[in-house]
Amino acid sequence: MKSKTGGKAKKSRQNEADARLKNLGKLLARAREQALARVRVLRKEEQDDAVELPADDLDVARSLEDIETDAGLIERYEYQLKAIDAALSRLERGRYGICEKCKEEIPIERLKAVPFAAYCIDCQKKRNERRRPGEGDVDEPSRNVWTPPEELKESVDE
Ligand SMILES: [Zn+2]
Repeated sequence: MKSKTGGKAKKSRQNEADARLKNLGKLLARAREQALARVRVLRKEEQDDAVELPADDLDVARSLEDIETDAGLIERYEYQLKAIDAALSRLERGRYGICEKCKEEIPIERLKAVPFAAYCIDCQKKRNERRRPGEGDVDEPSRNVWTPPEELKESVDE
């Protein structure tokens, strides 16, 4: 009786882990699609802005500003795409959801908020504090526009 229950529990834990990975894989794929779509829209806007030259100087200035903003956004989403690709490759290697630094499991809540997180919150905070004092909240999942932290970019480039 006891061993039977134990076996069952172990099996359902394995299923849970599988289901979790499957869901997170979906989440990542969706995040990737969204980022890709954003880049596509922004690229198109950038092109349109460049093609339709406005009539007066004020409009030119405004348009140039738009192009710069778009370029910044494109850059941001491209970082995000890189981070997502890195997360997908970790998923393939069975290392997804494991903190790159302390090798502990990254809490599911964090992965839901930032599906491509490479570090647990503690390690991310330590990295942020070390590099940019006072900007430890750069990876706050509650922010509407997620700004990929510098270190994420680096770990992607490795
Ligand atoms: Zn960690």
